[in-house]
Amino acid sequence: MIVYNKGVNPQGIRAELLLAIICASSYPHDVGVSCIINGEHMRGSLHYSGQAIDFDTFGEGSNSELASMLQAGLPGSYDVLNEHTHVHVEYQPK
Ligand SMILES: [Zn+2]
Repeated sequence: MIVYNKGVNPQGIRAELLLAIICASSYPHDVGVSCIINGEHMRGSLHYSGQAIDFDTFGEGSNSELASMLQAGLPGSYDVLNEHTHVHVEYQPK
C-alpha cells in the first residue's frame, strides 16, 4: 500500500505522475511517498512543477527492487533514479 508522509503536498501534481503511483502501488511491500511538490530540492528540480515524486520503501521492501520495477513498468518518458535514500521518479517528455 502507498503511505503518504505527513506534509506531502500533491497540489499541482502532473496527472502523468499518477502512472508512477499506480505502478508503485503494485509493489508487494509498503511504499512511502515523501515528496511531490514539497521538500528541498535542487534548483530547477521537476518537483517544483509537479513532475517528480519521491518514493521510499520500508520494512522488507528495497529501493533498488522498487526502482527496477518502476523502470520496467513506466514508459520511456519517465526517469527513475535510485538515490538509495529514496527512489526519485520524474516525468520528462523528451
Ligand atoms: Zn526527488
